[in-house]
Amino acid sequence: MNIYSDERLINLGIISGTVGRDFGSARDKEIAAKIFESLGIPLSKILGLKQVHEDKIININSDEDLAAYKSQNLHEADGWLLSLPQTGVMILTADCVPLYLWSADGKYVSLTHCGWRGIVQELPKKAAEMIKAKTQEKLQAYIGPHIKDCCFEVKEDVASRFPKETIIQRKNKIFVDLDKAIILQLTSAGVDEKEIQTGCHCQCTCCNKKDFFSYRRDGTKDALLSFVYKL
Ligand SMILES: [Zn+2]
Repeated sequence: MNIYSDERLINLGIISGTVGRDFGSARDKEIAAKIFESLGIPLSKILGLKQVHEDKIININSDEDLAAYKSQNLHEADGWLLSLPQTGVMILTADCVPLYLWSADGKYVSLTHCGWRGIVQELPKKAAEMIKAKTQEKLQAYIGPHIKDCCFEVKEDVASRFPKETIIQRKNKIFVDLDKAIILQLTSAGVDEKEIQTGCHCQCTCCNKKDFFSYRRDGTKDALLSFVYKL
């Protein structure tokens, strides 16, 4: 299984990453279950949500939070802030950004589904501010596989919602650099740019058909699983 992850997070005892397409689409619950089984993570400990391209983040920091989560059926949100041990969270992406953000001591870890709509609603910045409100530790980040500036062509209406530093013009086409947009938000929230890791262009979901699903390329609902599990 190919897992795209950040060693800093793994070294903190946080099993995490974005799983490549070799297992199939994790939109299929049986496939998601198989992925967790092969990772040795109990499926019953994994929490899910209904992604809606907005900016809500669910806190799972205590047994009370977990009980509140379990007492409701539908969780419309696009991210997690987790500190409860032996608990895991997941999101699905296929071009959108799986953003991993954590305090350097590993106590708090956030995983957010950042599509362009979530990014213009400042979901990355909000995740950083939520962790900073809980701890003085420095923050670290990993921007997982997603559609990169080579392929993320947009029209003027979408481009106009992004900072100009993130816009690239090529042959009368407009592209947005989502890595850059996220880095700008995280640094404005006080994250040191040196602490933010991004993948190479080989981690563009749209270019790299062998390893990833891409909504832009394929137009299907197939999706990659991203997860965080705290030991
Ligand atoms: Zn690309």
